[in-house]
Order: sequence, then C-alpha cells, then structure tokens
Amino acid sequence: MKTPLLFIDRDGTLIREPEDEQIDSLEKLEFVPGVITALSRLAKSRFKLIMVTNQDGLGTPSFPEEDFHPAHNKMLSILAGEGVVFDAQHIDPSFPEDNLPTRKPGTAMLTPYMNGDYALAESFVIGDRATDVQLAVNLGCRAIFLETPNRPMPEFTPEQQAALALSTPDWAEVARFLCSAERTAEVKRTTAETDIHIRVNLDGYGPTHIDTGLKFFDHMLSQLPHHAGIALLCECRGDLETDEHHTMEDVAIALGDALRQALGDKRGIGRYGFALPMDECDAFADLDLGGRIDFAWDVNFTREYVGDTPTEMYKHFFHSLACALQANLHLRAAGENNHHLIEGVFKAFARCLRQAIARNENDRSLPSSKGVL
Ligand SMILES: [Mg+2]
Repeated sequence: MKTPLLFIDRDGTLIREPEDEQIDSLEKLEFVPGVITALSRLAKSRFKLIMVTNQDGLGTPSFPEEDFHPAHNKMLSILAGEGVVFDAQHIDPSFPEDNLPTRKPGTAMLTPYMNGDYALAESFVIGDRATDVQLAVNLGCRAIFLETPNRPMPEFTPEQQAALALSTPDWAEVARFLCSAERTAEVKRTTAETDIHIRVNLDGYGPTHIDTGLKFFDHMLSQLPHHAGIALLCECRGDLETDEHHTMEDVAIALGDALRQALGDKRGIGRYGFALPMDECDAFADLDLGGRIDFAWDVNFTREYVGDTPTEMYKHFFHSLACALQANLHLRAAGENNHHLIEGVFKAFARCLRQAIARNENDRSLPSSKGVL
C-alpha cells in the first residue's frame, strides 16, 4: 500500500507569521494554537509529514541564514520533543519576482513525490494561503486551508475550490478530519427491489440518519451508531408493498459492505469483540473481523412480528450482514419479551463491533500472526 503525504506549510500554519512576514529571531517564534497536539496525533497516523515553505531571499543580506536557523531549529526541536519529526523539509529561498519553479505553488522541489511511489490522491497540502491550495492542485492532491483569525478569506479559483477538502481555523479539526477520513465508506446499491444509500464513519464523525421505511427496523439499526460509536447514514426505499424481506436483506448486504470497506487494511484494530449479557434477555455476540465468513444464530421468537418487521428476518439480516462484512458472527439470546430479544441482539452486536473496530493509535500492526487479514 502506498503512503499518503501531508505537505505542510510553515509560516502562518505551524508558527505565527509576523507583520513583516519574516521569522528571523527567537522572539518572533510563536506556535499556531493547537498545532503541536494535532501534529503529535498526525505523526502517529499513516501520513508522512513533509514541510514545504517559501522563505523569501533566505541566504541574501535581506534574510541571512544565521537569522533564520535559530528560530527554525528551536521550532523543530520543540516539535520533536512531542514526537513530531518531518520526513523532509523543502525550503525555497527565492524571491517572488524570480518566478522560479521551485517556489510554491511550483512543484520543482517535490518531483520525487510525483513518480507514482506515493498515494498522492489521498495526500493533502495544509497551508494558510491560496498558493498552498494551488500547490495541492499542481501536485494532484487535496488541500486543507488553515484560516487565520481576522484575515479575510482568499478568493479561490474553481480549480482550487474543487481541491479544497477542509477550511478551518482549528488544528484540532484538521487532525480529527485527517484521522477520521481514513475509515469511511459510502455504498449506493440499486436493484429492482431496493434503492439504498449508506455512509459509515467508524470513528463517529459525520451524519447519523436512519430511514428504511420500517419503523421497528429503524429503531433497531439506531442501536448501531449509539452503541458501536460509529456514524451511520442509512436510507432505503424498498418494495415494502411486496413485503419486508428485500429491504432488510439488502440493507444488511449494503451495511456489511460499507463496514468492510471502511475497515480498509484493518491495521491497528482489535479484530475480535465479545459482549456480556445485556438487559434481562441475556444477549451474546461474538465477532471476528478476520475475513473468514461463518454465522451461528440461537434466538427463538414466540411472535411472528414485532412492530412492522417479521421476526424471522433478523436471522437473515445478520447472516447477510456477516457475509457482506466477511466476518465470523455468532449471536445468541434467551428471554421472553421478543422486542427485548431483538434489541438485546442489536445492542450486543453493536458493543461487540465497537470493540472489534477500535483502533490502537500507537500500534498499527495487523492483529494476525499470519500477517494478513
Ligand atoms: Mg504560510
């Protein structure tokens, strides 16, 4: 798998830019609020950090090297103390009027990243100027614009606007966005029987809205975001005039597919989950996201329907979900109240899923001795 990159601007993005736009003394060194905590999180993510900065006239009498390095090195050592080390620093010393291709938004310093060895489409430029956004356009990646309080927003070209993934004054938001962007999926599935749109975010960012046309099924599905800590958008228009079967089956398939896609390479996840008895009905769920499909079900209902859904469809729902998710899922529940049995199974499954997808930010190894999941 190719590594995505974060091309990060320096002045105005990592450290505050003074009015004369030149940080040439230690007194002028001041970090942008929140940047150290955010970068410390991003340094542990799948991204490599690359600094790209224009330093007008560096090495000339207008900006001698000996004025630049003390503040620059101090900045690097403070960041390194928090685990933030840049894989490379690209500093262009030219003046704007030189019009050199090395100067942002030119890419002449960055050609080693453009040879196909890196995941540029999943990479971002983070900066506080329109030229940073243009750099993203020129590199073929996306941009995150760090807004500066009290400075007007630039007028972006349509091309820049299209490359803009996020605009915010808040570094914490940048880190949240980049870390959550890793585990999302969207599935649109249209057949003669159903029309389904599902979006999931395993880290809980994003809209949650559930509407399948079956009220009791919606009530059960809404246990998933609540108890699994995921964001779930699930809309289905199905042939309910026939019966509930296609709607419940196809939502299971699309949801399992979306969860499997969002898990990606599964690095750092817990993989297994388990649940303890819940409520008075004793519901248990065992789950393995290891990629092998199996399904076991031991839940007996005494009613044909609960709400507007047939009880027999819940075995089929979870079986279809396990197949699409490529998971090993065992569910069992015992009790008297059929509503509680179903809800108990959904809650146990959701809690189980929460543990199985939970990712250890400090350990991105695969949870398998085989080296593949
Ligand atoms: Mg800048």
